[in-house]
Amino acid sequence: MNRFRVCLVAMAVLIVVTGCTRPDRAATADATIDPMVSVNTLLPAPEEYARLRIGTAEAPIPPWTKFLRGVKIVLDPGHGGDAHRRGFKRGPTGVREAEMNLRVAQYLRDLLVHVGAEVRLTRETDVDLSLAARAGVANEWGADIFISLHHNAVDNKPEVNYTSVWYHADVDHHPANLDLARYLAQGLYDGFPMPSFTDVPLKSDQLMYPAGFGVLSNARVTAALTESSFFSNPAEEQRLRDPAYNLREAHTLFLALARYAAAGLPRVQLLEPSAGVVSANGGPVRLRLDDGLRGRKSWGFARQMILSDSIVVRLDGRRIPHAFQNDGYLLEVELPAGLEPGTHTLDVRFQNMNKNSVLNPRIELRVEPPAGLARGRGGRSGG
Ligand SMILES: [Zn+2]
Repeated sequence: MNRFRVCLVAMAVLIVVTGCTRPDRAATADATIDPMVSVNTLLPAPEEYARLRIGTAEAPIPPWTKFLRGVKIVLDPGHGGDAHRRGFKRGPTGVREAEMNLRVAQYLRDLLVHVGAEVRLTRETDVDLSLAARAGVANEWGADIFISLHHNAVDNKPEVNYTSVWYHADVDHHPANLDLARYLAQGLYDGFPMPSFTDVPLKSDQLMYPAGFGVLSNARVTAALTESSFFSNPAEEQRLRDPAYNLREAHTLFLALARYAAAGLPRVQLLEPSAGVVSANGGPVRLRLDDGLRGRKSWGFARQMILSDSIVVRLDGRRIPHAFQNDGYLLEVELPAGLEPGTHTLDVRFQNMNKNSVLNPRIELRVEPPAGLARGRGGRSGG
């Protein structure tokens, strides 16, 4: 049942019946059927709406979507649990952003799972979650990709309706975030076009807040936030109620993710020391690079598909030299002597031939305190 539509009809009837002669009762009735606090504001759709359309003209599955197999993706439908906040994140007639975000996430999940991706949603129902908890789902699972799904709004500018995709901090912070954001933005431009556009659709979250969006700043995996269109635009608000339109958006994001995966998702793996414990005197660290392409054993796979000049290694933010060999894709770095006890971060960046950057470039290394000090500390903490 569409409670929202029923509410509107009921309100219209009440206004006609009560007119202006009984303002007290009319005001009381209005307060109970306020569309700005209503729930279930989308057009109803069966739970299997998207699944039933997979492989049809509404949701075709191109063969290259197979490269999503095994990719771990967390989808975060923005907001939720906020219907009681009058007018909060609602369009001109009361359609809620939290509901459209959730439906798009569920349809996108159905498409991704169909081709073998591993998918988790941060929420399945109309509940609120902290921004850190949303990112935490991706961090704790060790996801490859985290996407927070939103729709946009602006006060007093009903004509505005364009697509933007947001990354955290500055462009050097985590280059794979830009890959993800770029594929999503270009995909949306193709498959979910808006009447207007912003000339540079990739935006830093620091344009909105000095610390960025909490949902992105807390993510330790490749992450982006989509604002696919504006629900403050009256025509767009009504389109966003429609399950067919929600599926079109989800399918567009699905193809964008498939193109990203098809271009190869580069990774880096620590070989030695395998446990990540290094000496305070420094020494060699050996890593294996994966361009996300060679493993497919396609024609010419033995040729180098990593851009040599793109390889940069930093220890705690400082560049250190490296040696790379195409045979085996081995990378060797020599850690300097004099490392302080504690955790050190090795940041290993490179791009494959499609300019995709490493999904997770950070490797944690640990320097143990000198043996005598470790025993002393152990003794104290045990007392
Ligand atoms: Zn939002």
